[in-house]
Parts: sequence; structure tokens; C-alpha cells
Amino acid sequence: MRFFTGGINHETNTFSPIPASIERFRETSYARGDELLAKTRGTRTVIGGFIDAADELGIELVPTIHSFAMPSDAVTRAAWDEQINDTLDDLEAALAGGPIDGLLLGLHGAMVIEGIDDGEGEYLRRVRELVGPDMPIVMELDLHANISPESVEMVDVMVGYDTYPHVDVYDRAVELTHLLARIVKGEIKPTSAFRQIPVLANLTAQYSGTPQMTDWLALCHEIESRPGVLTATITCGFPYADIPQTGMAAYVATDDDPELAEACVRELAQFAWDRRHDFQATPMAIAEAVEYAMNAEGPILLADVADNPGAGTSCDGTEILRELIARNARSTALALMFDPETAAQASATGVGATIEARIGGKVDDLHGAPIETSAYVRALTDGYYVNDGPLGTGSSTDIGLTAVLEIGGRGGIEVVCNTFRHAANDANSLRSVGIEPTKRQIVVIKSSVHYRADFTPLVKEIVEVDAPGLSTPNWSRFDFQHLRRPIFPLDPDMTWEA
Ligand SMILES: [Zn+2]
Repeated sequence: MRFFTGGINHETNTFSPIPASIERFRETSYARGDELLAKTRGTRTVIGGFIDAADELGIELVPTIHSFAMPSDAVTRAAWDEQINDTLDDLEAALAGGPIDGLLLGLHGAMVIEGIDDGEGEYLRRVRELVGPDMPIVMELDLHANISPESVEMVDVMVGYDTYPHVDVYDRAVELTHLLARIVKGEIKPTSAFRQIPVLANLTAQYSGTPQMTDWLALCHEIESRPGVLTATITCGFPYADIPQTGMAAYVATDDDPELAEACVRELAQFAWDRRHDFQATPMAIAEAVEYAMNAEGPILLADVADNPGAGTSCDGTEILRELIARNARSTALALMFDPETAAQASATGVGATIEARIGGKVDDLHGAPIETSAYVRALTDGYYVNDGPLGTGSSTDIGLTAVLEIGGRGGIEVVCNTFRHAANDANSLRSVGIEPTKRQIVVIKSSVHYRADFTPLVKEIVEVDAPGLSTPNWSRFDFQHLRRPIFPLDPDMTWEA
């Protein structure tokens, strides 16, 4: 058996001013053909899972492009055209080189392309056009997918991540590969049901450790254990996308039993609707959070949930840092501050120098103004580290030239300024620059939820902070125009039944 594999991935925050150009893909994650297999073999990633399952089943994988750009505004037309054309060229070559039995895709589900709202729908339409209606196509999706009904119709089966932080992407990839193999062998005939749920869910309320997610997932797994059910997926959606398919959804595939799929999907969708109030969030005001963190038993992790580059923000928000400096916080580390200028300035003067820095607040006017301060250059690195935490274990991260600046003298506030926009979700983002998070009173991380996978065991407590930013849980800061309405909680009095 031969499976063609790849995927173009992006999570689009349509409120971001930063377009996803081809450079953004290349600096985050991009590989094509055999290089993709070489790079991901042995990692706990989507493609790593496809490879291991294919090896186990004796299936040959024919790889094309698999790429991912740090979330931001829509994928540019040029970045899209280049990648989809290369993908289709590879698919044509693969088809010419012998029979392809199925397409095994790793897609995100919340990609918007310049002028095309439904990015994954477009990807599927283009590959489907080439392979025809009978070729099995399956896809793995992120928990943050904003799935369109059109996408669901174009695939034979889909499997979404169950967890956030996404620690099961590998397991879901293995599950999906086995399903595709069974379809090709004729052992199963998937029939599916799908339901969009009219709820905007806050990212922080989508954390797998919350009661609502624990309960929803338990129901999902119980449904998967019922005879005749092949797989079930719940998605929370990515709320910072002002497009019609944004929101939560449920999906169930059964073995040739549409009525069963329909009954199960209704249960899953109704559950999320009934718990809709639990999918909202209320973070703590900045001043209150900083004061608490300075006086409680540490380490205290302050989560800058509104400036999560993984959700398309600038990652150079300054308002929490401003408060820390004003209160002369000690034993404090902040990561990662996207600031290539400051990293370069520190690199030019070298370790041991004191510079007049202008930190952060440069990308847009939505995340606070730059902070002007004297800062001591404590360390410089090339920004490379391997992830030892539960997310993408074994894969490497390159955050570019990185400087650790110390503000307020020895034992003061260390700010990790780096060159590529990236969330400090793995503790090695700090350890690789000489900061041991367990030895600090306060650790500030710009991220919504992913940091929890690695940092939860390292700190005493986590406090989500209400700073300004494009991933704030505060919906009133956004001017939504294109969502399908009504949707909760923007239309608080609406009623709905699955
Ligand atoms: Zn996600």
C-alpha cells in the first residue's frame, strides 16, 4: 500500500496585522519530500505518527510538503499558490510513479487564505480534483479547527486532537493511519455526521484539565466505545477568526450506519451547548496579578493569555512587564519577548554590557507601548533548543538570535528577547538561555494553554492575566462582522438545539 502524505498548516487570527508569507512558513516549520520523513521520523508529531504507523502496517509513505507558520493573519496568496502548486506537482508525480491508495493529510483546520475563508476546504478541493471522487482521503485536525461542512464532505474520515495542550497528536495520527488502511482494505465503510455548535469558546476554557473539557471528552470516548462507531471528534474552534465557520463542532464516523452517527453527534453537540457558560473565561487584572505573584509562595506563573503568538498575536506585549518594573519585582523571568531589534542591539554590544533598550511594543498598537529602560546583557544564544516537554517531544525549535536582558540589577527581572515570534511552551526556552524556572519567584509566559503541559509540575500556581492583546478572552475588544449568527455569547439570549 502507498499513501500520499502532507499538509499546509496555519491557524489564522484575522485580527492580526501580520500576514503569513512564505518566509513565516520557512522560519517556523517547512519540509518537502524525503526531507520531511527524515526530519520527523522518531518525533511525537503528526508526521512522526504517520511514519511509525505506516512502518508497522508495511505501508509506503510518499511525502510532499508539510508546513506550519506561526499563527497570524491570513496566508498570503503567494505563499498559498507556491505551496499548493508544489503539493499538486508532487501528487501528480506520485500518481505517475505507481498506484496511490489514499491521502493521509495533516491539516490544522483554522487556515484562512487571502480571499478564501475556508483554507482546508480549498486544500481538499484541489487534491480531490486531481485524484477523483473514489480515492480515500483522511485528515487529522487540530482541536482548534473551525471546520466547514464542505470539508467534512470531501474526506472519508477525520480525526481531531483530543487534548489541549495537544499532547496526543502522535496517537491521533496513528489512529488515522490505521483507519485509512482499513478503508483501503475494504474492512470498513465510514459514514459520518457533523454538527457546528454556535458557541465561541475561550482558549483558556478549552484547556483539557477543566471540568467541562474532561466531561465532554469522557462522553466522546464513551461514544467511541459503542459498537459500530469508528471515531468521534470534538473541536473547540479558534475564536479569533472572523469567518462564517468559526466555532465549536462535533463529528462522528460509524461503520456504514448514518443513523447511529447522527444520534451520537447530536449528543456530543448538545453537551457543549448545555455547558456553553463554562467555555468562557475571566482572567485577573494586571496589578492584582503582579502583586499576588510577588507575595505568594513561588514559583508563580503569570500567563499572558492575551499575547499568545500561538494564536496570532505580536508576542511583544509590554503591560505586564511595565507593572513588574514599576513594582521592582525580583527573581522574575519573562519569555518570550519577540524583539529582533533589541536582540541584535544586545548582540552588537555583547554580554556584560549595559544598553539603553527599547523593549517590545513595536509590532502594532494593540499590545502596549515599548518600554525604555537600562538593561544588562546577561546572555546571548543562537536560539536553538530541543523540546523535552510533552509537546512535540524530541523536535527542535529555533527562536533565532536571543538575548537575556536583566532589568533592576542582579536578581531582578530577566527578559528573554528573541528574533522569531514563538511561545515559550517548553521549559527549555528558558533553560537553554540559563534560566531555571523552578528557581524563580515569578515566571511570565506569553501563551494561552500550551505552556501548561510542561510548566504545571514546575510551578506552585498559575494565574491567567487580563492584559491587552489579540488573544484576550474579552470578546468585547473585537469587532466581529462575518461570524454566522446567532452565536453565544455574542447573542446571549439565543436558544439552540442539536
Ligand atoms: Zn491548536
